[in-house]
Parts: sequence; structure tokens; C-alpha cells
Amino acid sequence: MYEALLGTIFAAIVAIGLALAGVLIITIWKKDRTRKLSYLRLFIQVVSLVGIFISFTMALWLVAFFLVIFAVTLFSGRFFCGWVCPFGFYMDLIAMLRKKLGIRYWTLSDRVNGALNRLRYVIAAAILVSPLLVGALTITPASQIQFLFLRGPYHSLNLFLSPLEPLIVPWTGALANLGFVDWSFSYPYTRDIVYYINIPVVTSVLIYIFIGLTLVSTFMYRRFWCRFCPTGITLAAANRFKAFKWAPVLHINKTEEKCTKCGICKRVCPVQVTEVYEQKGGDIKTSMCLNCMRCVEMCPYEDCLKVNLGGKTVFHSRNWLEPSNIE
Ligand code: SF4
Ligand code: SF4
Ligand code: SF4
Repeated sequence: MYEALLGTIFAAIVAIGLALAGVLIITIWKKDRTRKLSYLRLFIQVVSLVGIFISFTMALWLVAFFLVIFAVTLFSGRFFCGWVCPFGFYMDLIAMLRKKLGIRYWTLSDRVNGALNRLRYVIAAAILVSPLLVGALTITPASQIQFLFLRGPYHSLNLFLSPLEPLIVPWTGALANLGFVDWSFSYPYTRDIVYYINIPVVTSVLIYIFIGLTLVSTFMYRRFWCRFCPTGITLAAANRFKAFKWAPVLHINKTEEKCTKCGICKRVCPVQVTEVYEQKGGDIKTSMCLNCMRCVEMCPYEDCLKVNLGGKTVFHSRNWLEPSNIE
């Protein structure tokens, strides 16, 4: 009974979310309401979370999931990170809560932030190599690389897809007492901890430590996990190969002459990207950028920052400091 009710609620959330997103897109585009972009992002994140939860109830092939996200990234940069990823959404919700409580976020020094960014490559490489090193000891023949990466005991692909894991998943029955049979609580990466470190008690303790650490760090630093998330860098890496340079069609573009060096773009960026502020005009190309477009939304000078899609400007900064433009 509960499950049918929840299905109806989810369907209603998707329908209302899409309708509101549609209205907002028209308002932002036609009426130039640049500062409404955060609401649009919020609606899209909610609809994506519900959509991802529903797809978890289906027997979908993990590789298909990864290929879709990879293709989206190839053409739109890390749009997935800025607008869709459930783990990113949870981090944004925690940031909203901190803001509501009137607590200011902390910032990392550029050096530490840069070091964390580089750490992403090391983590991603370790995830890719670990099945070969550890799995080779337990699985024969060693040539079953596909088995190791996709379905083996060390689940590389699961690790890369972990940020998609909704907080409630349609497996086992931890919520059975509440009437939700075959449903359970979850949290990104917790299943991976079980796969990698399957020791009674130790695994549970590690899971609670991991959840505690990610929640606290996210409360203090915006999108903390995204600074070194291996999924983000794996996706972004695609656009760095010469063969794929033609692919991205979504760009944030800066007009240097219109920039007053006010520094707002640097301050509002959830992952402390400095290129928008420092770069002398042109398309912003950094693998750290989540394409969340917050900098464009908040830049207070007309047309200084633009979002170009296939060469056409779809969104641009505006003079919101002028009294007539204050919303
Ligand atoms: S960097 Fe990782 S956690 Fe952050 S939004 Fe992207 S995939 Fe999600
Ligand atoms: S917010 Fe806009 S005007 Fe201010 S420094 Fe950034 S790009 Fe320049
Ligand atoms: S540089 Fe702009 S678009 Fe990129 S992550 Fe920062 S605020 Fe978002």
C-alpha cells in the first residue's frame, strides 16, 4: 500500500518539477531573470533524484548508466555534476541548511584545493588498478578483466557510479518494519566499503565514520567531496583528449573587457574554481568546473559571462546591481 502511494507521490514530484522547470526556463530566457537559475537547478536536481531512484528499481545494466553519463559529459562538460548527481544534490542541501542557520562556509587555500584536485587522478587510477591487484589473487583466470571491472568482488564500475546512489534503495528489507518491504537505507560509497572491507563490526564502524566525515566536511566546505571525486575527474578527463576537443558544445565564456575584477564569481563557486576570475576572456576550460553556472548567475555585469550552447548564447550575466534590475 505504502509503495503504491510512494509511486504516486514520485510521479507527482516529477510532473510538478518538470512543469515548474519549464515555467522557469521560459521566465529566465524570455524575461531575463538570471537570478532564478538556482531554483531551476534545484527543480532539476529533485526530478533527477526521483528519476534515478526509479531507474534503481529496474534491472538496468550499470555500463549503460555510465555510458549515458559519459556521453552527456563529452558534449556538455560536467553538467551532470552541477545539475544531476544525487550526491552533489545532497551536498547542496547541506549547504542550504548551513546558510539557513547563518553559519558561514570555510574555504580551502588555493594550494590545498589544487592538491585535492590532483588527488582525483590518483584515486581514479587506484580504483581502476585495485581489481587487477587484489582480484588477481582470488579470481582465475586473470584474463577475466571484464569480470573484475564490471561485476567482480572489487566493483570498479560501482565505485564510479556510487555518487548516484539514492538515500533509499529498492533492495533488502531494512525498512520492512515501516511497511516498505524490500527497501533499504543507503548512502553513496557504503556498499563499496562493504565490498572492499568485509570484516564484521569494522565495516559498520567504517561506514558510520565515512558518513559522519562526509556530512561534517560538506557542512564546512561546499561540495567538499566533488573536489577529489574520482567520478567527476573520470568524466571530465574525456574532454581533455585532443580527439574529443571538438565535442563539448556547452561553454562558459568570459568577455574580459566587461570584467571589473569584483571577485564575485570566485566567491560563489562551490568548488573554488579560480579560472573564471583569472582567465583573460574566452571559453573557460578547467576540469574542476561543474558547469553549475552559479558564477554566470551571480556575475553583476551585463554579458560579462555567458553560457554558450553550440555557439549560441542561452544564458548570460546581467547588471543585477542596478536598482531597476534588483529582483
Ligand atoms: S564530482 Fe562526484 S560527487 Fe560531485 S557531483 Fe560529480 S559525480 Fe557527483
Ligand atoms: S563576477 Fe564577473 S565581473 Fe566580477 S570578477 Fe567575475 S567575471 Fe569579472
Ligand atoms: S566556475 Fe562557475 S560554473 Fe564552474 S563550478 Fe564554479 S560557479 Fe559553477
